[in-house]
Amino acid sequence: MIRVAVIGAAGRMGTAVSQAVREADDLDLVAQIGIEDAITASSLDGAQVAVDFTAPEATEANVHACLDAGVDVVVGTTGWTPEALDRVGTHASQSGHGVLIAPNFAMSAVLATRFAALAAPFFESVEIIEMHHPDKLDAPSGTALATAQVVAEERRRAGRGAVPDATQTDPLGARGADVEGIHVHAVRLRGLTAHEEILLGNRGEQLVLRTDSFDRSSFMPGVLLAVRAIGAHPGLTVGLDEIMGIG
Ligand code: NAP
Repeated sequence: MIRVAVIGAAGRMGTAVSQAVREADDLDLVAQIGIEDAITASSLDGAQVAVDFTAPEATEANVHACLDAGVDVVVGTTGWTPEALDRVGTHASQSGHGVLIAPNFAMSAVLATRFAALAAPFFESVEIIEMHHPDKLDAPSGTALATAQVVAEERRRAGRGAVPDATQTDPLGARGADVEGIHVHAVRLRGLTAHEEILLGNRGEQLVLRTDSFDRSSFMPGVLLAVRAIGAHPGLTVGLDEIMGIG
């Protein structure tokens, strides 16, 4: 049995993670920590792994506190800066414990990005459409941004030039965001959850990669995979790819 603490347990993701841990035969939910609770060895109550789904302004301090208490950490909270990642990476290495920070725990999304990277050198054109519920505060989504950056990097590595685009006037921004030369379009529509399409085109052919998260349950297999694996990954790991064995 792996003993697990959930930080941000009263939140939407924290509630779903607590439930998923309770339902797993090999995991034991030993602590549920909310915003009012200090994170100490005592409040972590013997946990071996803590899962953090809280808020960007809280998550880094939570991770340091868990490492100080000798606990591995799986983090889904978004909004990490390169500087915060550096600090946590240093602390994790010094402590000998593992920290996994994954901006997206949906395995379909992780795989779609991986497949897009694989396909990128072979297509003249690439565009990304991300589609989310209208309550989402940021655009484009972190996952679409990361996908565009990976695709751009693979195109550069393959010596591909700019995507073809004869547009000369676009006063309303209809061509979307330009992320390192890859156009990213954000749709906000009531009824949607989190969806992404990567369109790759050549003359006479098209490849469409699509990933859909219909609800929060889509994140749970990835979270539980990380909880089970983090003990074998000391130091900082960013993204689920390495844990899935596709890094
Ligand atoms: P939420 O419903 O607002 O839940 C966050 C919870 O954390 C709230 O209960 C909040 O308490 C609590 N909290 C805030 N600061 C805390 C602290 N210092 N210590 C302990 N608890 C604290 O948000 P959510 O929808 O669950 O999302 C949480 C985070 O996960 C967001 O950053 C979101 O973008 C991210 N997310 C990531 C993935 C992924 O796959 N990686 C998927 C979905 C969401 P109060 O309500 O009292 O403030």
